[in-house]
Amino acid sequence: MLRLKTIYALFILITLAAPAGYLYSELVTYILVSASWLIAYPALIFIFRADPVNALAPILFFNLLISAYFWYRNITKNERTLRHHALNDNDADKLKLAEERDRAARFEAGIKGKETEIVNLYEITRKMSEHLKFEEMFRVFSLFLKEYFTFRRCDLLILDRVDDIPRVDRVYSVRYEDPADGAAPAPDPVNGEKLMGLFADGFRDILLTKEEDAPAIKSLGIDDRGIETFVALPLLSERKMVGILAVENLMKDDLERFVIVAMQFALEIKKVLLYEMVEKLSVTDSLTGLYVRRYLYERLDEELQRSRRYNFEFAFIMVDIDDFKNCNDTYGHMVGDVVIKDIARIIKESVREIDIVGRYGGEEFAIGLPETGIESALHVAERLRKKTEDNVFKAFDEKLKLTISVGVAMFPRDAAELNDVMDNADQALYDAKRSGKNVVREYKR
Ligand code: GH3
Ligand code: MG
Ligand code: MG
Repeated sequence: MLRLKTIYALFILITLAAPAGYLYSELVTYILVSASWLIAYPALIFIFRADPVNALAPILFFNLLISAYFWYRNITKNERTLRHHALNDNDADKLKLAEERDRAARFEAGIKGKETEIVNLYEITRKMSEHLKFEEMFRVFSLFLKEYFTFRRCDLLILDRVDDIPRVDRVYSVRYEDPADGAAPAPDPVNGEKLMGLFADGFRDILLTKEEDAPAIKSLGIDDRGIETFVALPLLSERKMVGILAVENLMKDDLERFVIVAMQFALEIKKVLLYEMVEKLSVTDSLTGLYVRRYLYERLDEELQRSRRYNFEFAFIMVDIDDFKNCNDTYGHMVGDVVIKDIARIIKESVREIDIVGRYGGEEFAIGLPETGIESALHVAERLRKKTEDNVFKAFDEKLKLTISVGVAMFPRDAAELNDVMDNADQALYDAKRSGKNVVREYKR
């Protein structure tokens, strides 16, 4: 009897343990329930001396109960985990989505930034290209710089070449704190030679920092108080340096952007240089480098208008080489050309920078002296005559002596219109020729 009770107790224990096993794992549950079957079935038949078929009924019923309970547990548990997972998935998705959105936003901002940069670059290029003069182009450029960069000072050096040796032709400067209209005193000049020296061993972008290149910065001779960075970019055209762009205290992060802008700027500079060259070619005479007649008129007229506005005197000098036909006949046209070139040089050297000198005809020259009275004009004319008379013209193997005749007329004393004053000077020249050449004559009514 005891054995039966033990088996019976075991059966109950195992049956009760089944749900507990379920908590541990489904496989364990299955094994326990199956085991309870295996033990319970013969036990029940034996205890109740039941018919094996009849004994199935309570066992099945009992098992059904347990199974139903498990199903219920299982379903609810699955549902819970499902819901739990769904919830988790949802959160993760949300997180992922947010990350994606952030990334996209950053990307978009990046693109927007680049786009604005390109638009700005296009805008400044367009604006710069409207200008064919350095002053105006640099003004546009410096306004742009101030808007998009932080710096202390920026210099543009335009170089030109004399016998293929580069030298500084012009410097344009802007300081960050200058008023936007640019109406500020020009900053002290930069040392062009020293700046050019930075590129002695090749054209590359140069970035000097206070921490690493203090001596190099000092050697530039610039005001190095408070200097953090110094950037110098060579502006190249046909592998030759046509300019230098130098910037003080540009932020290091801005360097890349600045180089792009500078490259665009260099293109514009090339264009302006080309334009200047073409303009110069079209207005200057190839033999003498003096203004051609058409442009001479233009310049003289401009100056005459200005003289009229400000009540200035304006002197006109006309020069003609004496017996030049003889010179040509004796020495040939080649020698004659050298003489013309030489006299042009003498004239250029004898007048001021603001005076206007042109080749009026073959061996005739016209000079306009703004803000000049008759006394000074006669003085200049006489100086020209004397210098020519004293000069020994050397052409090829020839050495020759030549003289000029000079006529002088005055605005507004002699005439009010350009053509008339020119005629007057021409008439004075004719007088000079008539009175034996190699003399200066002023116009007399
Ligand atoms: P005058 O003292 O009266 O001026 O006598 P001239 O012989 O100089 O006479 P004119 O001024 O009329 O002579 C002009 C000469 O200059 C004619 C031409 O052969 C010469 N000529 C003009 N243009 C050139 C040039 O570009 N080269 C050379 N070699 N000769 C030129
Ligand atoms: Mg002549
Ligand atoms: Mg002559």
